[in-house]
Amino acid sequence: MKKLLFGVIALSFITACNSDNISNQNENPANDNTSSSDLAKRGCASEEVRQEALNSNAELRQRLATLETNTEKFTNDLKAGKVLPDGSIEIPVVVNVLYKTTAENVSDARIAEQISVLNADFGGTNTDINKIPSEFQAVSAGNTQVKFRLVNTIRKATSKSSWATNDDMKKASKGGIDATSPANYLNIWIVGKMTSQGKTILGYATFPESAGLWNDGVAIAAPYFGKTGASSPFNLGRTATHEVGHYLNLRHIWGDANCGNDQVSDTPTQTTANYGKPSYPLYNTCSGVQRSVMFMNYMDYVDDAAMFMFSAGQKTRVQSVLASNGARSGLRLY
Ligand SMILES: [Zn+2]
Repeated sequence: MKKLLFGVIALSFITACNSDNISNQNENPANDNTSSSDLAKRGCASEEVRQEALNSNAELRQRLATLETNTEKFTNDLKAGKVLPDGSIEIPVVVNVLYKTTAENVSDARIAEQISVLNADFGGTNTDINKIPSEFQAVSAGNTQVKFRLVNTIRKATSKSSWATNDDMKKASKGGIDATSPANYLNIWIVGKMTSQGKTILGYATFPESAGLWNDGVAIAAPYFGKTGASSPFNLGRTATHEVGHYLNLRHIWGDANCGNDQVSDTPTQTTANYGKPSYPLYNTCSGVQRSVMFMNYMDYVDDAAMFMFSAGQKTRVQSVLASNGARSGLRLY
């Protein structure tokens, strides 16, 4: 990288000299380019004009350096194979299992099942995608171009049956498992049970501002991970879809406030979270406007069987954090 930057700067100086020569020559009327014989050769002044601008503008030089750095990064991403031929990003996943009982020590098959659910839900190939009401089909994300690949599973027995949301499961010194390179891998921790403020929760995730920190990743309670042997009505693997949604910068669809804002324009404003299996259409009124709400979105609180879509606006947010200059661009590199 340093070499490249140096190259760009050195090139600027060399070309700057040439550029001076050219402008000196142009001041000479004998070199006036008006004769038809001169037009037999193609001429383009882009680089000369650029160099002149660069010579007198430090901000422009900085922008060029950033541009070339990002271009090189993108090229390296392609070489690393994380950017697939269709433009999808394949996120490497490390699953950390902390178990007290045999049931909590979820099997490799169940982990594979969960990865398949993530790939189906983020790829828009989930079998229930045809349940999206026609009203919302136009704003359905379809394929978000995010894929997942399991690269490692780490297991550790524990005497702890219930965990809090204080990240202890992510610290070996607290009886947990330290994250594997959190800037470059999606770490998922599976624990027996989790509570927050006295209530049992399914899971929690860090948002992209935590990218690469020691506690970065997703925690899910074993009964809600995968499908086979999971606890109904949260037994279709959608807790992971929802939590990974947060990890990729998606907010709850109601914006965590009454008629709140989820930063996505194509998800209708809704009053609050929905639970269970609501019947479509379901109307909410916010600021005097009645709207049919998108309760079947993965970022609502409905049962696994009642959620089956991301929106196009959500796809854009996800892709933004995974872009070459995005907060989670580290996931593109091993
Ligand atoms: Zn959530």
